[in-house]
Amino acid sequence: MANPGDFAYTVKQQADIVRIVGDYVKLKKAGAQNYAGLCPFHQEKTPSFSVHATRQFYHCFGCGASGDVFSFVQKLENITFPEAVRAVAQKVGIPLPKISYNSPAEAEEARSRGKLLEMHERATEFFREQLRRPEAAHAREYLAGRGLDQEMIARFRIGFAPERGFILRDVLGGQFDEEALRASGLFSWKEEAAQSASLYSKFRNRIMFPIANESGRVIAFTGRTLSADEKAGPKYLNSPETAIYSKSRVLFNLDLAKEAIRKLDYAILVEGQMDCISVFAAGFHNVVASSGTAFNELHAKLLGRFSKNVVVNFDPDTAGANATERTLGLLVSEEFHIKVLTLEAGFDPDLFIRRKGREAYAQALKNAQNYFDYLIERARTQFPVRSPEGKVKAVNFLLPHVQRVPSRIVRDELAREIAQKLGIDSAVLSQELRHAATKRSSTQLKAPAEAQVTQAERILIRALASASQVQGEEDRISARDGVDEEFDPARQAQFALSSERLHDGLATEGLLDALLRADLAETGADPLSLPLPEADQRRLAATLMQEDEELTPELLEGAIEALRRRHLQRRQRQIQVQIAEAERRQDSAVLGQLIREKLELDRTLSGVAARE
Ligand SMILES: [Zn+2]
Repeated sequence: MANPGDFAYTVKQQADIVRIVGDYVKLKKAGAQNYAGLCPFHQEKTPSFSVHATRQFYHCFGCGASGDVFSFVQKLENITFPEAVRAVAQKVGIPLPKISYNSPAEAEEARSRGKLLEMHERATEFFREQLRRPEAAHAREYLAGRGLDQEMIARFRIGFAPERGFILRDVLGGQFDEEALRASGLFSWKEEAAQSASLYSKFRNRIMFPIANESGRVIAFTGRTLSADEKAGPKYLNSPETAIYSKSRVLFNLDLAKEAIRKLDYAILVEGQMDCISVFAAGFHNVVASSGTAFNELHAKLLGRFSKNVVVNFDPDTAGANATERTLGLLVSEEFHIKVLTLEAGFDPDLFIRRKGREAYAQALKNAQNYFDYLIERARTQFPVRSPEGKVKAVNFLLPHVQRVPSRIVRDELAREIAQKLGIDSAVLSQELRHAATKRSSTQLKAPAEAQVTQAERILIRALASASQVQGEEDRISARDGVDEEFDPARQAQFALSSERLHDGLATEGLLDALLRADLAETGADPLSLPLPEADQRRLAATLMQEDEELTPELLEGAIEALRRRHLQRRQRQIQVQIAEAERRQDSAVLGQLIREKLELDRTLSGVAARE
């Protein structure tokens, strides 16, 4: 939250959301105060994403995303609020305040992280030097055998960890204290020995691949063993998690690939470092790999910041494996557009490129299959889809995949496609398929909430929010000659709603109550910064984004009348039910009272109707 007086507030005052959003989304003027463009948060072909220049917020009529300039940058860059504030400040050119730590412990933590980064940089250089030494001949041979030339070795800063584990300690020990060495993840030690003399390098006789964070700083290593001896440990050994390395938040090669991913608008996702380096070396710079852990949700979000299109090129032998399914499922849930590149059996990307060359890989990329086409094909080979039973089995195989798709519309399309491709001509089965495919949505569907809001409710929301029109409002009012000086839509709406409770039982009841409670006319607060449930937040944003009709006394009066009528009709229906109940109970006293109320209601309602 940005509060008056704090840095975020200052930044928000000076940042123009249209300009900031414009850095990411191509915006076109779409109204007096609105700009529209393609939503960056969901896939669409016609713009339903709007930015309100006066009220300084955005709202998507497609997926419902909305918020202020910070929430936009936060969501798009997948960063925290303080980071978003700093990012916007930088874009606007506001000097950042000096980082201040909340506690000595926090300052200490930042210091030790800095130390670890420095240590990893030093270790990277050490491993590189070692690779050039005579003792590393077998390491250089191995790399040559994998087709890596000097340029790639330098680019990925590949090195060699010598067999003797004390050298690294001696090199780093001169510069860093023992506590830091132990915290780095680079060393092992025998528990009983307390002195630093017992520390030795975790990585011995291994090719060292540095793992860098997004800005290119080395934060961990993967070591590929060069020893045939099984006692030398696993083939690939990764740094443990440390204060600077969290494996579920790092995609290997993202630092080198991110520009290409953005430019080409797709990423190639492979399984291991070697595959990643080979694909990169062959000239496909938009390649990343998860390293040391399975691809997870954070990886998907991280990647999604650069492009929502991905070609997944995993080892074909693992195509059916759970990990692959999980990866693809995660990408589907994050609304990626996925293609699957399946190489011939026995080929991983590294081997494929070395044997068949770059052109063949480029061709294979081009021919990569849409994920759902690929799934349908798998279903067709796995089940005898000529028989009705086979069709049902195939459908049941496909459904869980379809149900992961967040968009209901896409799910419905997929259901139709599946019915067609599996040759489902039974109306019952195809309907069931479409029903099941779209059903998942009933709990998770992000239906545009504004659909349920009537025109009258919308006008009342606008009236209540009208007091706090931000910049420029005074000018506009004074420019409107002849406007009734007495007309105060906020006060009028506030009075009608709170005295008669006209909004009881409406979808907007909670929202209107929140606006009443906030008393914006008095406080001048921004309605968009009220703490509201997500659905209300969306209704409010959608309503305020569409303030095209001028708020006149007639319009407001008409809206209040409409709500009054609905309110009475609602009471009418309630009474009907209560009368039926009283009749059943034969409670004549209550019955008489209800019937009197009903008559009065009928009279009032016909009066309301007559006045229209
Ligand atoms: Zn959207």
